[in-house]
Amino acid sequence: MPVFDYDLGILGGGAAGLTAAAGAAQFGAKTILVEKAKKLGGDCLHFGCVPSKTLIRTAGVWSLARRAKEFGLPEVALPPVSLAAVMGRVRSVIDTIQEHDSPERFCKLGAEVRFGSPRFVDDHTVDLDGARLTARAWIVATGSSPSLPPVEGIADVPYWTNETVFSQTDLPGHLLILGGGPIGVEMAQAFRRLGSRVTIVEYSDQVLGPEDPDIALILRNRLEAEGVKVLAGTKALKATVVNGSVLLRVGPSRGEGEPCTVEGDVLLVAAGRKPNVDGLDLSAAGVAFSPRGVPADRRMRTNVPHIYSCGDVNGVLPFTHVAGYEAGIALSNAVLRLPRKADYTKVPWCTYTDPEVASIGLNEKRATAAGVGYRTLEAAFRDVDRARTEGETEGKIKVLIRPSGALLGCQIAGPHAGELIHEWVAAINGEVKLSTLAGAIHAYPTLAEISKKAAGSYYSEKLFSDRTKKVLRFLFDLKGRACTPEGEAG
Ligand SMILES: Cc1cc2nc3c(=O)[nH]c(=O)nc-3n(C[C@H](O)[C@H](O)[C@H](O)COP(=O)(O)OP(=O)(O)OC[C@H]3O[C@@H](n4cnc5c(N)ncnc54)[C@H](O)[C@@H]3O)c2cc1C
Repeated sequence: MPVFDYDLGILGGGAAGLTAAAGAAQFGAKTILVEKAKKLGGDCLHFGCVPSKTLIRTAGVWSLARRAKEFGLPEVALPPVSLAAVMGRVRSVIDTIQEHDSPERFCKLGAEVRFGSPRFVDDHTVDLDGARLTARAWIVATGSSPSLPPVEGIADVPYWTNETVFSQTDLPGHLLILGGGPIGVEMAQAFRRLGSRVTIVEYSDQVLGPEDPDIALILRNRLEAEGVKVLAGTKALKATVVNGSVLLRVGPSRGEGEPCTVEGDVLLVAAGRKPNVDGLDLSAAGVAFSPRGVPADRRMRTNVPHIYSCGDVNGVLPFTHVAGYEAGIALSNAVLRLPRKADYTKVPWCTYTDPEVASIGLNEKRATAAGVGYRTLEAAFRDVDRARTEGETEGKIKVLIRPSGALLGCQIAGPHAGELIHEWVAAINGEVKLSTLAGAIHAYPTLAEISKKAAGSYYSEKLFSDRTKKVLRFLFDLKGRACTPEGEAG
């Protein structure tokens, strides 16, 4: 039997790689993790979730200050924002969390961490800047990078991506954003709230393409109410720079229409991701890949069964919690030799705009595409007392159920949707009955009451139907309404 230096080798020290390394080492597997950048943590910590959510919080505070009068407070005159100071806070939050991802911590757990540029030599061997490392199994967890859309001249204009936006120090007067997906809309609202004019150029007819149009519209309406210009159904054709301004030639993405030019100070490109495979020489290991990623089966195995692919690099669902989940699946298969398989049907996600937009399971688009019969239950935040006290009444919950009442999915657009969705995460994972949710006591006054209302609406239709009333009258000799408003038939 061949002898390898390590039981498990991992390429990439982000969400997937770090989860795999910590788990493998704690199971007692001899583990090495190789990271190309200077620090561990990956996109989520340095250029993704952490900086974006920190920036969003700062922008949210500023937006609340601007709304002071709505809450009965004196109006506040708000001075211009220093983006340098804002990004200083972003930096300090990253630095604090970074401590958790230090190589020393991983060493204490039992995993060796090395920095450098790895390259496969064969299916068990990686060359790390001249050193040869062999492992019985490898996990490719190298993440993804922003991709440039095919727009003439785009590579020649100065542009920001998620890798550069959080180190900026000057607030742009007018920020053009290419892409109305989660990154585009989150950044649009944050920069608008900090004081920039913002225009989003989005190819599809709605922001947040995978969401149902009615849910996405709730967000779009808020963005527009706050002054973000949303050019949906619009294709960027050409980018140029004139006198320091970025000029973006745009036209309708489908059908007829005249092109026009939008002018901004800075272009932020948030229009898709590409897998990080450059320099890995996956072909030397016989690993198949495409511009979409390094495909894996549900056990996270590539076409070479002892080489696994986890996280953004496999092109399935680009979320930190999915990367961690997939790393756990790969670990079961590669280290524990338990044939666990990934199940993506119960993955929640959230876009952290205001209102937040959260989702799990089937929405109407996905149910229709899958040919699944459904009906919807809805409740609005304006009917929830806590939403009134908070001054956050926009949005709704939409639950998809089978005609039998079984849960299929849930979408929430509203305050704290990313927290509220977890009642439905538990319900869908636990196959909880709608009647259990409808009957469960929810604390008053909480936003979570919206979930009970939505579940309860399924029964209230039946409970308060004319037929039920007739049966009750018959059984209990009920005498009907004591009071009827003027003009209504008695
Ligand atoms: C602006 C933004 C906001 C986001 N917000 C959220 C959010 O709120 N919630 C959420 O769930 N997800 C969010 N994401 C997505 C999330 O960041 C990714 O899904 C997650 O980081 C993927 O983890 P990963 O381990 O696959 O990749 P990464 O975390 O990117 O880790 C990959 C690591 O591999 C390293 N690497 C690259 N090439 C090589 C190589 N050749 N050799 C060795 N190492 C290499 C990289 O340097 C990196 O450290 C956001 C992303 C962006 C861009």
